[in-house]
Amino acid sequence: MDRGAAACEPPEYVAVPSIDAIEALLARPLLDLVYDAATVHRRHHAPDAMQCSQLLSIKTGGCSEDCGYCSQSARFKTPVEREALLDVEAVVANARQARANGADRFCMGAAWREVKDGPEFDRVLRMVQEVKALGLETCVTLGMMNGPQARRLRAAGLDYYNHNLDTGASHYDQVITTHSLADRFATLEHVRAAGIHVCSGGILGMGETPRARAELLHQLASLSPQPESVPINTLVPVAGTRLEGATPLDWTVVVRMVAAARILIPRAVIRLSAGRTGMTEEGQALCFLAGANSLFIGDELLTTQNPSPSSDASLLGKLGLRAVAGASGGDREACGSGRCAG
Ligand code: SF4
Repeated sequence: MDRGAAACEPPEYVAVPSIDAIEALLARPLLDLVYDAATVHRRHHAPDAMQCSQLLSIKTGGCSEDCGYCSQSARFKTPVEREALLDVEAVVANARQARANGADRFCMGAAWREVKDGPEFDRVLRMVQEVKALGLETCVTLGMMNGPQARRLRAAGLDYYNHNLDTGASHYDQVITTHSLADRFATLEHVRAAGIHVCSGGILGMGETPRARAELLHQLASLSPQPESVPINTLVPVAGTRLEGATPLDWTVVVRMVAAARILIPRAVIRLSAGRTGMTEEGQALCFLAGANSLFIGDELLTTQNPSPSSDASLLGKLGLRAVAGASGGDREACGSGRCAG
């Protein structure tokens, strides 16, 4: 992005820039980058609005895949215990509690390589229907799936499907070998074709180069249409996984990725996702200034810790941020619960 006279009003890209240009964007002086991202953010989103989702693992562990960061892979000996697919009633009870906690979206994750037609998928469809009936937005992450499965999820009332690209193409094979990046793009095409909103992002701190981070952003920004939801995760190393000894990231890398994602995908909701337990309040606040406008609330993510609801309520309260409901930050109505923002 050219600066000069446009320093106070950063232009927006009309086409996705090259990977070289994104790498240069990520390397800009941090506060310049944050300033421009914050300016873009304010064009498209209410700057005090925070979308709050809550996540539940509906089927835990025992996955056939070899994702090097994942505590649920059967290939690694980790502290995570296998659990069968939950009952619909248990999921609905969790969703009710999430709504009471101030979440407006309920996300359900199953540790599957892919969706398989049969009684378990039918049960997930019932979960989606019943959670939707509570007035919550619905999201699932179930691994790869085909077109007919995506259409059945949409018919059940699914709003979002999460399927992350995880990392840049040049680093992908060092993290996952049992399914390809092309497989992931194919699933995202089925999601989009079925009329489901796309939630797709990545994970930082898996030994990737700055170039691979630029590739990840290029991959995400090049999805057409661009994703509505972009989670930016930081690796939470779990004992027993292949990446348990990964070098911790400097917090500024996360801020840079949030800021660049905001500039490159201006209308998306950017979620500051896994890894917030390792960030200071100040680091998170800088991410919110740079355009992160979505959080998971609740003590747990799928298998790792998340900041406590009281600490999140305290942080959002200190910053004057408010929980919102809806799909697009700038157009949202305040949910009015006040519970997320304390
Ligand atoms: S496919 Fe999902 S659940 Fe399975 S190992 Fe990879 S990240 Fe974990």
